[in-house]
Amino acid sequence: MISLQPQPRAASPPPAERDYISYSAISMYQSCPLKYFFRYVAGLPERTVAAALVFGSAIHRSVEHHFTELLAGNEPPTLEALTGEYDRHWQETDVSVVKFGKDDDRESLGPLAQRMLAAFQTSSLAKVEGHILGVEEQLRGPVIAGTPDLLGRVDLLVETTNELIVTDLKTARSRWSAEQAADSGAQLLLYSELARPLAPRKKLRLQFAVITKSREPCVELHDVPVDRRQIDRTKRIVEKIWRAIESSIYYPAPSPMQCPTCPFRTPCRAWAG
Ligand code: SF4
Repeated sequence: MISLQPQPRAASPPPAERDYISYSAISMYQSCPLKYFFRYVAGLPERTVAAALVFGSAIHRSVEHHFTELLAGNEPPTLEALTGEYDRHWQETDVSVVKFGKDDDRESLGPLAQRMLAAFQTSSLAKVEGHILGVEEQLRGPVIAGTPDLLGRVDLLVETTNELIVTDLKTARSRWSAEQAADSGAQLLLYSELARPLAPRKKLRLQFAVITKSREPCVELHDVPVDRRQIDRTKRIVEKIWRAIESSIYYPAPSPMQCPTCPFRTPCRAWAG
């Protein structure tokens, strides 16, 4: 469903074996080129994983279960079934490598997850109007000239009489503003190019579904306009990033937001340039 990596990762395959690019890889290069290098080029194993990633993936797994049941023609799962999926995700995670925040542990996150899933169940997102075409649908295609195929996983694909709706699920500390949705739109704009051939005559709709991790969680939908100029701009940005990667341009981009949970802190400090 998502591109998060909840488990500590074994060494990645060497770049020569990759014949695709993903939005998460491109996004990682944008946030820190050296982190991209450690993961995707050097293929270093990752011995720690941020609790927020595990938590987000567990919520995604629960939501995916909901939509998969609907896709199969079954009744919506109960809250107990959704929290069961959430718990299973944690059970399958090696908690000893998870980096929690100073006020978090696995137990303290459980009640929050329950409130978020309850909010999801009663939201308009959970009551799909239309025909579900795919859940966690993997799409791949040559979207940007001069770069490998783009590989994307679409959380939810729904077809209505007039529209093809591409939904990406996010968990966030607080509500997103319209600017935040627009600023995050690159992923959906790229996915629109992969999804368009599925229903070429239908209007394409792109939306983020944001579940907040607040005391009283809420679920909000944010549309991202399908703007041709923005799509082309995004493709040109990815093309330039790909050229930088091909030219082996790597450097650290330290930030207090991402360095504390980065699994490559030790090799980063040792990196001599
Ligand atoms: S520790 Fe910070 S600067 Fe170094 S690789 Fe990780 S994210 Fe980049």
